[in-house]
Amino acid sequence: MEYIKVIIVGGGVAGLAAAKTLGRDVNYVLIEAQNYLGGRILTVDAAPDLTIDLGAQYVHGDKKNTVYDICDELNILLSDDEESDDDALIVTSEGKYCKSEILDKATDLWERTRNKAEEKYDDRTTLSPISFADIVPKEFQKRLLSSSSFSKDLIQPFIDYFMKLEMTETSCLSLSDLNLIEYLAYEDLEGEYENDLKNGGYRPFINYLKSFIPNDKRIRLNCEVIRVKFMEDDRKLLVEMNYLNQQCMKTIICDHIIWTTSLGYLKENFHMIFADEPKLIQQKQNSITNIGFGTVNKVIMIYKKKFWSRHINSIVLLHTKNDLSFEISDELRQQLQIERVDSDMFKEIVNMLFHYDVLPSTDIPVLICWFVGPTAIMIENLSEKLIGQVCHEVLCNYLNIVQEKYQPVRILKSEWHSNKYIRGSYSYSSIKSTKHDRRQLQASYAPDGIRRIVFAGEATHEHYYSTVNAALETGILAANKILSIIG
Ligand SMILES: Cc1cc2nc3c(=O)[nH]c(=O)nc-3n(C[C@H](O)[C@H](O)[C@H](O)COP(=O)(O)OP(=O)(O)OC[C@H]3O[C@@H](n4cnc5c(N)ncnc54)[C@H](O)[C@@H]3O)c2cc1C
Repeated sequence: MEYIKVIIVGGGVAGLAAAKTLGRDVNYVLIEAQNYLGGRILTVDAAPDLTIDLGAQYVHGDKKNTVYDICDELNILLSDDEESDDDALIVTSEGKYCKSEILDKATDLWERTRNKAEEKYDDRTTLSPISFADIVPKEFQKRLLSSSSFSKDLIQPFIDYFMKLEMTETSCLSLSDLNLIEYLAYEDLEGEYENDLKNGGYRPFINYLKSFIPNDKRIRLNCEVIRVKFMEDDRKLLVEMNYLNQQCMKTIICDHIIWTTSLGYLKENFHMIFADEPKLIQQKQNSITNIGFGTVNKVIMIYKKKFWSRHINSIVLLHTKNDLSFEISDELRQQLQIERVDSDMFKEIVNMLFHYDVLPSTDIPVLICWFVGPTAIMIENLSEKLIGQVCHEVLCNYLNIVQEKYQPVRILKSEWHSNKYIRGSYSYSSIKSTKHDRRQLQASYAPDGIRRIVFAGEATHEHYYSTVNAALETGILAANKILSIIG
């Protein structure tokens, strides 16, 4: 039977960072179930000279920040002069355009509302949980109502807009499930919040991490770890693996594991993989259940011709009418029938369309639509053609332009929930979770007093979980824990 000192499970950022930190002299292998490295970083070639990140796309923060520093060193960050102006095109259901200052004003009120909540609730850690939805939207509504800038018909659409934006940022299933106290305790990475990458996206970053792994069969793709058992007598771990391409099982013996799979994957598979380790299950089952893991998906539309001005970096739809039925093309109507999308599902999709980002890294016209909550999961079952056409036709309807004139030439969509090795997008603090849960998720398993399984990955970070930075830092930390044992 093959013996390896350390097995890294998962070839996302945490696993790659762990491999880099262990260094070439340690006897390790990196096991990845899918056919690529990067995990929730997935950069695809969408057209000649056009890459799209279906997963992470921004670098968060620019101070005391390893991810930013690596990207800067690789010269893959978009510079300020390459970025488009910060202008949003804001349009209502009636086709009325709002000045971008009104969005700035609403953003300011939304931030003040959050700050007020922070003052009031930040230190109330011992009280029973309060959800984001219980407090923030009502307080925001009061502020909008008392401001002279907002006509009555804009109040609810702005509340809806910011709620969806918050769901995108946190990936929560609903704001009623978002723990306000934990949300307020979240430490944002310092500096500019969203730094864009040049065309090529995160791919060079992944290649950079990979370049530290020697080319000697240390990476095993298409290989899924399916069972782990600690053998007390030998003080070794038995790791059973399914080589997906060869359709065969193999077992490796090792001293340590660095486990980096997503929380979504753990929610589904933890009990099965560690069925022989009841103490480990006991140690972690509550935190795996309590911490939230939701889905955010993107629908990407690539056009031949721009139909927005070059100063625009996003298009915001404010649903000022309750009636979400639209004039749609015959082709789309047929496609809706073929894919059995009834009028309620159609309205649910339209209602979710709130924000189209212009991809700043290219001159090719590209719009990115964000989907969150249950709708993000629902659209995974629809074809790219259908969902892209809905996004396109609804937008044209709002902008009052002839949709046939500007048909998208290609549509892509992410499917993070259907991916059985990920099962969602990123972690959030659900109403059931506390700080203790993250600590418990990160805690190592030491059945014989020695750390045998060390846990890493985005969800195990206490402060800025849900980011690439969190994955990188926890991967490095896990590898250092192992190095401190094996020297
Ligand atoms: C749509 C979307 C947008 C995002 N936007 C941003 C952003 O703009 N900025 C940002 O900082 N972050 C963003 N994130 C979050 C960021 O991508 C993640 O936090 C980070 O990539 C997680 O890395 P990880 O190594 O912890 O986990 P993962 O990337 O999930 O890596 C775990 C790996 O384990 C593998 N695996 C699972 N089970 C097994 C098994 N049994 N055996 C072997 N391998 C297995 C998986 O295939 C996967 O490759 C986004 C994520 C998504 C989905």
